Amino acid sequence: MLRRFFSYYKPYKRLFFLDFTCAVILAVLELVFPLAVGYVINTLLPDGNWGLIISACAVLLLIYVINTLLNYIVTYWGHMLGINIETDMRRRLFEHVQKLSFRFFDNTKTGHLISRLTNDLFEIGEVAHHGPEDMFIAAMTLIGAFGIMLFIQPELAIMTFIIVPIIIWLVLYFNGRMTKAANRLFTDMADFNARVEDTVGGIRVVQAFANQKHEGKLFNANNLRFREAKLISYKLIGLNHSISYLLMRLVSLFVLIAGAYYVLRKGMPHGDFVTFVLLTNIFFKPIEKINAVIESYPKGIAGFKRYIELMDTEPDVADSPHAIEVERLHGDIRYHNVTFGYEGEAKVLNGINLSIRAGETVAFVGPSGAGKTTLCSLLPRFYEIEGGTISIDGYNIRDLKLESLRKSIGIVQQDVFLFAGTIRENIAYGKLGASDEAIMEAARRARLESFIASLPNGLDTVVGERGVKLSGGQKQRLAIARMFLKNPPILILDEATSALDTETEAAIQQSLAELSVGRTTLVIAHRLATIKNADRIIVVTENGITEQGRHEELVAAGGIYSRLHEAQFGRA
Ligand code: ADP
Ligand code: MG
Repeated sequence: MLRRFFSYYKPYKRLFFLDFTCAVILAVLELVFPLAVGYVINTLLPDGNWGLIISACAVLLLIYVINTLLNYIVTYWGHMLGINIETDMRRRLFEHVQKLSFRFFDNTKTGHLISRLTNDLFEIGEVAHHGPEDMFIAAMTLIGAFGIMLFIQPELAIMTFIIVPIIIWLVLYFNGRMTKAANRLFTDMADFNARVEDTVGGIRVVQAFANQKHEGKLFNANNLRFREAKLISYKLIGLNHSISYLLMRLVSLFVLIAGAYYVLRKGMPHGDFVTFVLLTNIFFKPIEKINAVIESYPKGIAGFKRYIELMDTEPDVADSPHAIEVERLHGDIRYHNVTFGYEGEAKVLNGINLSIRAGETVAFVGPSGAGKTTLCSLLPRFYEIEGGTISIDGYNIRDLKLESLRKSIGIVQQDVFLFAGTIRENIAYGKLGASDEAIMEAARRARLESFIASLPNGLDTVVGERGVKLSGGQKQRLAIARMFLKNPPILILDEATSALDTETEAAIQQSLAELSVGRTTLVIAHRLATIKNADRIIVVTENGITEQGRHEELVAAGGIYSRLHEAQFGRA
């Protein structure tokens, strides 16, 4: 895992080394002051050499100026390193998530993903910057300080440094507990985001049922859990802070007493004594740094683990290595012995055989839950089939590049998803970069022209989140315009007009009929009136395809279709 973490530093090697070098120089220069004070007290003061004292201070001043500059570099460029790595990881994660399959999104909460893309990565970025640098500097400073102390007075140095193993033990102890706390914090934060996403997304339902109190309670339960998790980590931070504070003060006190003893009884020079005291103060600094790292490190690690977990989730539908690109398919579709189920052993489709000629319009009817939508969603490979094959124009769809396959298939569903943008952007989604003329032409063919003309902002009208500012019929027309622009050879209309009133439905049917001209069209219909003219009607039940033929044939056959027909229209 560590290796994988460091692989993200690769593009920023130079930045890393620059930052690192500056940080090391900064740490080394920090050690100069105690030595200088010792030198002044031991050598320059007894000599009474005022000029040299001034010179020594001038040198110190120069060092401080350099340090100021280094400080700026370490703070700004160091963070730049962290944010660069964070940005890269976020980009890669987003690219990866976009590739994941329907199955993944069926089982994942949006809020959890948002959490990973925002909060988790922020913590990782912090560690990417501070982790290696602070650890290294802390170690360097400790070793430097120890070296100097050892040189001045070995016994006292060793006695003072007995504290180091205790601190290492504390670090490890708190690190373990903080990791657990951080994991919990992240989980709670993600749940929290998921809850907000769910409630806000469904706010219209919440308000319609006047269930704000209920949602408030659920939200607050999450909120309190989050508070609990935060408190645990703050408690640990508090404990860690105060214990290390106590240890550090004890060491100071010890050095004061022991140093005084060495001065009085063993003739240690005064200057050495002062150097010692100042050095212990310096070596507190890395300990504080390590503490800071302890506080953010587990969060970063926990975040990185979750990041890796998501990055390692393979999309279960992906291009095969030898996948081919096709310019434009005709739409000769064959399902051969197709078997598919969503979860576990249960099969939604079992041994489906079906051929659809290019240009044919085929309608699927049957009870809700029979698998009509499923059957159609296997064609663009939204889900991978378990058995059998599906081919288009003789190509197994698994051998086609997903992009070519999906560019050739257009889907209009019952609930249209519009992006929170303008009408123009939403239509242009069918063909990115389409010209205004092309967009208007598509709008005209979808009979949206007069509606757009009636809007003060025309194509630039904002449709609101998911298109809330439009009526059902307008949304559907927008989806149709998008499809005219996309111009796919294969069209799937999944209950496209089922949610509309009969009048709007009839009007939109005309646009749909126009849209399906010259395309292989798969229509799933609830109201049989809309599919009477289909080339073929296929009845799908839990037992698979049970009847197929033209409308009149099926009515005459007296099977399921004729009963459905009777129920909707009465006996002929
Ligand atoms: P239809 O379109 O004929 O009404 P569907 O194809 O939508 O039926 O659904 C067929 C069956 O598959 C149903 O039992 C439904 O509960 C199940 N199903 C549909 N989509 C999913 C999904 N994403 N995950 C799990 N089960 C699903
Ligand atoms: Mg359906």
